[in-house]
Amino acid sequence: MKIVVLGAGVIGTTTAWFLNQAGHDVTVIERQPNAGLETSFANGGQISVSHAEPWANPSAPFKILKWLGKEDAPLLFRLRADLNQWRWGLQFLRECSPARTQNNTLNILRLGLYSRSVLQKLRAETNIQYDALTKGILHFYTDPHEFENAIAAAKLMRSIELDRQVIDNKNDILKIEPAFGSSIDQIVGATYTSSDESGDAHKFTQNLAALAASKGVNFLYNHTITQIKQIQDRISCVTTQHHAETFDITADAYVVCLASYSGLMVRNLGIPLLIYPAKGYSATVEIPEGANAPNVSLTDDEYKLVFSRLGKRLRIAGTAELNGYDLNLNEVRCQALIKRTETLFPLAADYAKPVFWTGLRPATPSNVPYIGKTKYPNLYLNTGHGTLGWTHACGSAQAIADIIDRKKPEVEFTFTY
Ligand SMILES: Cc1cc2nc3c(=O)[nH]c(=O)nc-3n(C[C@H](O)[C@H](O)[C@H](O)COP(=O)(O)OP(=O)(O)OC[C@H]3O[C@@H](n4cnc5c(N)ncnc54)[C@H](O)[C@@H]3O)c2cc1C
Repeated sequence: MKIVVLGAGVIGTTTAWFLNQAGHDVTVIERQPNAGLETSFANGGQISVSHAEPWANPSAPFKILKWLGKEDAPLLFRLRADLNQWRWGLQFLRECSPARTQNNTLNILRLGLYSRSVLQKLRAETNIQYDALTKGILHFYTDPHEFENAIAAAKLMRSIELDRQVIDNKNDILKIEPAFGSSIDQIVGATYTSSDESGDAHKFTQNLAALAASKGVNFLYNHTITQIKQIQDRISCVTTQHHAETFDITADAYVVCLASYSGLMVRNLGIPLLIYPAKGYSATVEIPEGANAPNVSLTDDEYKLVFSRLGKRLRIAGTAELNGYDLNLNEVRCQALIKRTETLFPLAADYAKPVFWTGLRPATPSNVPYIGKTKYPNLYLNTGHGTLGWTHACGSAQAIADIIDRKKPEVEFTFTY
């Protein structure tokens, strides 16, 4: 089959890879000059199956109210006159019930477990390089109440075979990550998932795109998709703008992997997607020779930050701001990343020259992505991966390739349609 993949982030590129592996003739359309230059560019780097609790959970409404208007809040709603934001917010509140939270957590967890195994297989088969580290993820807590909640979440995760262990002894935390050193006193407990991983999503995406191209996938870069057109109940073509020229690109099937722009692109087709951009920040600092930087990927529950060593760099990422499609760097939010990291790990890196970045997580209210069919028999979705697109990329891509081939995906998950 001739298949067009819309978007070459980590989701579109992995989708193209698995469709090519299944024997399809694949073209990828991307507005940037290369793969992985938007949200997949400088994220937190975590392959964090253990990070399966969605933002929408019973304690979220209270926290969001507490943080309203705080410029450095970990999760900041900037209320706008935007119907899509309000619709998204109302559904987010619905997803905060205990029953929905549990259901969403299990969906996210199963997809994460599957995805990590697909990534490991791909890595073994291709020897793809992306500063991968397989030292696990340590999730640490400074608030005793949040640590109590984490003990319950870890128990739920162990019930479906994730090795998320509770560590309540500070010496044991230091054994896993000696870089805590002087800051260990602030920590009340941790959970450790030794099977979790980390790595540079951007390097992975670019290297996989190059590999896919060498196997015949056609990447049309600098092509901006302006419309997906329909004739009766089928998609007839995708219109793109390339410099001053317009092209209609046709295929047997189309897969939408346009992250936060997916909903805007399919709205005129009568497909109502609840995807809203959740702006996040990262800072990347160099690790000088001999510095005491963390080796294990870390998650700071209180500040909603993650820390990943990517070769000789330390990546700090996190926080979320619901404020439309704005991509300006807010100095207060940038500096908050460095301040927290310096407090925890004063000798880890050269903090004088951070490289800041911001990206838009394609967030659904439940944190569960849209993967599957639409009402058009030749249009498919693989989008809305929010906080976990890197973690879920390989599994989502293998699953959508299976769905297109009319095979049952190997993962138990609530697919669309
Ligand atoms: C601060 C931060 C930290 C994060 N940390 C982690 C983490 O540690 N672990 C994890 O698993 N996930 C993390 N994420 C989430 C992860 O980065 C995203 O879920 C993932 O990158 C989404 O991939 P994507 O391919 O859907 O989006 P993108 O990479 O944005 O890809 C979409 C592509 O579509 C293209 N496109 C859009 N519109 C058009 C158009 N009209 N025409 C042509 N092309 C178009 C874009 O150029 C883009 O390349 C983080 C995100 C942020 C912001």
